[in-house]
This record gives sequence, C-alpha cells and structure tokens, in this order.
Amino acid sequence: MARSAKLFVVSGPSGVGKGTLVSLLRDKRPNLGLTVSATTRSPRPGEVDGVAYYFLSDEEFKKRVDAGEFLEWAHVHGHCYGTLKSEVDRLISAGQSVVLEIDVQGGLMVHKQYPNAILVFIKPPSFEELEQRLRGRGTEDEKTISTRLSNASREMEYANDYTVCIVNDNLETALSKLEEVFDDYESDGGQL
Ligand code: ADP
Ligand code: 5GP
Repeated sequence: MARSAKLFVVSGPSGVGKGTLVSLLRDKRPNLGLTVSATTRSPRPGEVDGVAYYFLSDEEFKKRVDAGEFLEWAHVHGHCYGTLKSEVDRLISAGQSVVLEIDVQGGLMVHKQYPNAILVFIKPPSFEELEQRLRGRGTEDEKTISTRLSNASREMEYANDYTVCIVNDNLETALSKLEEVFDDYESDGGQL
C-alpha cells in the first residue's frame, strides 16, 4: 500500500513509557524519523548532547526562541523544551514520517500548525503504576519525581484533546496498537 510522510506526536506523563514505545516502534519501522529536541535541563548520566537532546543554556535557548527557530516550545517540569523547525524539515524533506515525543502543550501547538498530524496520548494503567515506573527508572531525584508526579494529573486532562489514547499496560499490546495507528495513518493517502 502507498505510504506518505506523516507527522506523529506522542505525549503522556513522565514515566508512562513513551520513550520505550517509540524506540520499539522505530526498531520495527526504521524509516520513522525521531527529532532531537532542545532542552535547558541537565543531561542524565549517559545522555549525549545532540543524540538525547541538544542541551542548551537558558540564554542559548532564549536566543533560539527569539530567532524563531522553534516549531513549538514549552516549560515542562521546571525546564524549557522545544522542537527545532530544522529537525522536522530535515526529516520531512527526506520523505520520512516524523515522531515528536513532546509534552501536551507542545503537542497542541504542533496540531495548530499541522492539523493533519496524529496526536497519540499514552496513558498509564494506574497512578500507582506510573509512580512505580518513574521510581524504577532510577533517573530522577526525589524532588524531580514528585514534580513529575504532581504534573501527571494535569497532563492527563489533555488526553481528550488527542486523536488516539493508548493505555500502556502490557507493553506488547500497547506497541501493537501504536503500530496499528501508525500504519493506518501513513497509508491513508492524505496530506501532512
Ligand atoms: P517516558 O519516556 O514516558 O518518561 P520510559 O519509556 O522511560 O517513560 O519508561 C519509564 C519506565 O517504565 C522504564 O523503566 C521502562 O522500562 C518502564 N516501562 C515502560 N513501559 C512499561 C510497561 N508496559 N510495563 C512495565 N514497565 C514499563
Ligand atoms: P525528559 O526530561 O524526561 O526527557 O522529558 C520530560 C518531558 O519533556 C516529557 O514529557 C517530554 O515529552 C517533554 N519533551 C521532550 N522534548 C520536548 C519538546 O521538544 N517539546 C516539548 N513541548 N516537550 C518536550
């Protein structure tokens, strides 16, 4: 079936499994491009600049905002995060579909500019499970974990504004649903 390049947004509370699902999806669909976002937060151990994120100072981030370099940007969990237009343009012009793993504010901003983008919201099976996953990942200190958990319920309120919601309970099942959404949308023949 003919496929055309499309734009996907994947959002959901911190620790729900967005990164895990997107990485597994990209293993199965190697042509799906992932943008590297910019952020003012510090790198976690093992995160490489230009791979995980472009790690910018507050000043550099602001400079790029003022220069109009971002497709969208937002304050998330006390830091700035944003998608550079250059990242999306590079992939789209190469004919690749693009997935943006970004927060709900950013997702809705992208939707205004790309009304045909598909917005996928990943939900946790329960708040308790979300907390366990976030703690189990072991990448954040206690203060950061509580900020992210207290933001989770507000983020969940945006789920209804999204095109599709997937509950990430069983990982395999959630991945199959994500693949289905991706395949249906990519082969629908419509414009980006
Ligand atoms: P996010 O990118 O949304 O912040 P991650 O992908 O980093 O979340 O996942 C957070 C933690 O939850 C990781 O340790 C990951 O291995 C685990 N995880 C992801 N999906 C599931 C799942 N369906 N069941 C159990 N653990 C999961
Ligand atoms: P983390 O610090 O765990 O990598 O990401 C924290 C949050 O920032 C996640 O909800 C993630 O989706 C969001 N995020 C990452 N990149 C971007 C981006 O470019 N724009 C926006 N708006 N949010 C982002």
